[in-house]
Amino acid sequence: MHGSDSLLQYVDDDVDAKFSCAGCGCDIASEKHLLWEGFMGHSTSALLFRCSVNLAPCGNKREEMLTTGRYTLADMHCHVCQVPLGWKYLSAQQEDQQYKVGAVLLQQSLLRRVSNLQAITARTAYARPPPAQQAQRAQ
Ligand SMILES: [Zn+2]
Repeated sequence: MHGSDSLLQYVDDDVDAKFSCAGCGCDIASEKHLLWEGFMGHSTSALLFRCSVNLAPCGNKREEMLTTGRYTLADMHCHVCQVPLGWKYLSAQQEDQQYKVGAVLLQQSLLRRVSNLQAITARTAYARPPPAQQAQRAQ
């Protein structure tokens, strides 16, 4: 591993699928730590993960009243490309929502699901599809 990448963490290789940051491709979470699929706000698809890697808090923690109760949240961004991906639950007021504490809720559209087979192919072939825009301009 390169010295400059020492802060970059990786999801276990033994999982069927993992989620990486759509912006920079670094690992974010393993599918086995996916707790819940739902929505953030009214219509933004989101995933709740028990554990994650390569996320760092951005901004101040805040209190917010969501549809399921009041929470203390910390906004989280990708440690590598700094794109805000979602938030971490620091505390929950409701008894039945305590399972969310310590978990992160991330926008599904900002993550890329990578199956293990694809991960292996990408590591060995470094295959990259051509950018769609360039293909169009060539005609
Ligand atoms: Zn990123």
